[in-house]
Amino acid sequence: CGIIGVLGTHEVSPLLVESLKRLEYRGYDSAGIATINEGRLDRRRAVGKLVNLSDLLVHEPLPGKAGIGHTRWATHGAATVTNAHPHRSGPVAVVHNGIIENFRELRAELAQAGITPETETDTETVAQLTRLMMDRGMPPREAAVATLAKLEGAFALLWLFDGEDDLMIAARKGSPLAIGHGEGEMFVGSDAIALSPMTDRITYLEEGDYAFITRQGAEIFDHAGRRANRDEARIDLGQ
Ligand code: GLU
Repeated sequence: CGIIGVLGTHEVSPLLVESLKRLEYRGYDSAGIATINEGRLDRRRAVGKLVNLSDLLVHEPLPGKAGIGHTRWATHGAATVTNAHPHRSGPVAVVHNGIIENFRELRAELAQAGITPETETDTETVAQLTRLMMDRGMPPREAAVATLAKLEGAFALLWLFDGEDDLMIAARKGSPLAIGHGEGEMFVGSDAIALSPMTDRITYLEEGDYAFITRQGAEIFDHAGRRANRDEARIDLGQ
């Protein structure tokens, strides 16, 4: 029910967990983070309160300066570690708020390509579809956009890719998503509160927008794939 993403200059795991804490007010049943460390994607997930994820990270740290995180409020599938986000398929990791309404149809399409579900979630189909597009030769940006075109429902999505330490892809349809601008760092969050310790420079994605985010900045596109200019605002949260 909360999303966070950081392309940072320092270790991001503590920042991801701290930001997820600021999204706790939305409610959740499990949580997880994924990072890229030396080009390699890895993740940690835990059921229950964020302290369970923090405890896990003490025993199994997750290094890396780029990462995404999620607090889940289960809609499809029980609150288990397997169903917790980030979801992964091959080189793709995804966190998602909302519901992919046509996930059963997408599962059928994936099955024809020999990709079967490993979780009970609607979200997993997003990771698997993106992976399928990449298997077919598409680079991450193209694969995410091709995946988006197939999704029905209400969602905020954030992708991270194995081997890509300077790329996050965000998309918004029905669930809010904010991009935060730092100095050589970029952030994504469900709301400005999540980002408030890192930056007060916020760009809200509009309905149907998607964005390619690197440490240099964000390229935002509208639902029709046209380059879009979205205003950057200074948010005063009284910190
Ligand atoms: N529908 C997804 C799931 O059940 C995402 C739920 C959420 O918004 O946290 O895993």
